[in-house]
Amino acid sequence: MEHIVQALYDEKMEEFRKQFLKLHPYDRAKFYVEQSPEVRKRMYEYLSPAEMAEIFDHLDIEEEEYKTYLSEMDPLFVAQMLGHMYADNAADVLNELDKNEVANYLTIMDDEAAKDIQGLLHYKEYTAGSIMTTEYIAIHTNQTVRSAMHILKREAANAETIYYLYVVNEQRQLVGVLSLRELLTSDDDAMIYDVMNDQVVSVLVDEDQEDVARKMQNYDFLALPVVDADNHLLGIITVDDIVDVISEEATDDYSKLAGVPDVDIQYTP
Ligand code: ATP
Ligand code: MG
Repeated sequence: MEHIVQALYDEKMEEFRKQFLKLHPYDRAKFYVEQSPEVRKRMYEYLSPAEMAEIFDHLDIEEEEYKTYLSEMDPLFVAQMLGHMYADNAADVLNELDKNEVANYLTIMDDEAAKDIQGLLHYKEYTAGSIMTTEYIAIHTNQTVRSAMHILKREAANAETIYYLYVVNEQRQLVGVLSLRELLTSDDDAMIYDVMNDQVVSVLVDEDQEDVARKMQNYDFLALPVVDADNHLLGIITVDDIVDVISEEATDDYSKLAGVPDVDIQYTP
């Protein structure tokens, strides 16, 4: 770490890049937030938008910090960086900003990236997208059970559920699923593609939440993965989120059955 700091102070870009890019993106993000504004500025001058995107994909910071960091960068650079981030992460960042700022970044961004992000910014109410969370554990087909275990341990504190690990390919498309029990009872040296289930039940991001609830009940899963039309994994819905949906819908249906208006409506002045 001292080497990296020193390289930045000495304005040795190549040396900085060589050492810094060896770090895992998460460690790069940790390093980034620990620096002063001046040092951060030098960092982004020495890194490409794609490289900064990896850092921002791993940041977990407050609204005010996002605003500060983004204001330190050139708007075009920010737009390109957001375009390189996972769309849901970029949408999360943009959700922290003012409307006109968001519009501005989306305008200068490459069209395709802007479209992806825009789709995630405002999910319609009562859809899978509106109740999903992006805190899930994803692993890759071509890794061992042992390395998946490391990922699990690293991510467990922040994941909504650790009970299922979702397997994605290089394009982040959903290709398999593995329960925690299955992971723990597999050989450490086994490859994920040999032990995963490749018949994955998922829901589409714009699917009605009532259909999601039904699927969850029918299949008896504790969580369901949410995908877009191209099968990219976008998030998960856990059974506790579905409990709310079911009680909501039950109240609704019971009121209709009894011929009385919805409780909400009754109390509307
Ligand atoms: P069991 O209780 O039967 O031993 P388990 O405890 O490992 O299984 P369960 O929650 O009961 O886990 O899940 C049953 C099976 O369904 C597991 O093999 C799990 O990998 C698989 N599974 C979980 N989510 C999905 C999904 N979305 N689509 C398809 N299969 C899934
Ligand atoms: Mg079970």
